[in-house]
Amino acid sequence: MPTPQPGPPSRPLLLLDVDGPLNPFHAQPHERPAGHAMHRMSPSWLLPGPDGAPATPIEVRLDPGHGRRLLGPGYDLAWASGWQDEANAWIAPRIGLPPLPHVPFADIRAWRPDGTCAKTWEIVEWAAGRPFAWVDDDIDEADRAFVAARHPGPALLHRVHPAKGLRDEDFEVLADWAAGPGAAAHR
Ligand SMILES: [Mg+2]
Repeated sequence: MPTPQPGPPSRPLLLLDVDGPLNPFHAQPHERPAGHAMHRMSPSWLLPGPDGAPATPIEVRLDPGHGRRLLGPGYDLAWASGWQDEANAWIAPRIGLPPLPHVPFADIRAWRPDGTCAKTWEIVEWAAGRPFAWVDDDIDEADRAFVAARHPGPALLHRVHPAKGLRDEDFEVLADWAAGPGAAAHR
């Protein structure tokens, strides 16, 4: 059972996936979005090479301006990523974010018989009723149905295409929701 996130529920949460929204890993070379810098990273969860050789670093493309834009609309940010707390070492400094809390996932690759993303029920537990926006490339209708049934507060499940990453229109959706439904619970 995840520990509910701490802190006063004064602002909605913004729960951030890394691969997809921030790292548009699915983009072919000719369609990569502008403004991203490529980094080679060696998080601890990379599998070693043959015969115990060191793991090959992965390429991660990040937009250094994304942190400032994510901090703008009035959310409390947290990671909701398979990178878990390692996002604070590898991702946050490269996009201008401070260290953030993270939703702990027991098994990010778990198969769920109800068809929801492996993250969904743990996100709902961790949010503990607090309004949240969640940006991820793996959200689908099963996740929306699960959250609607189990989460008592407002929630925005915003799917981002893994070849495009966060774009202007996504930031507009997030800003509108924070100022509208995400804020309504506190008025
Ligand atoms: Mg993802």
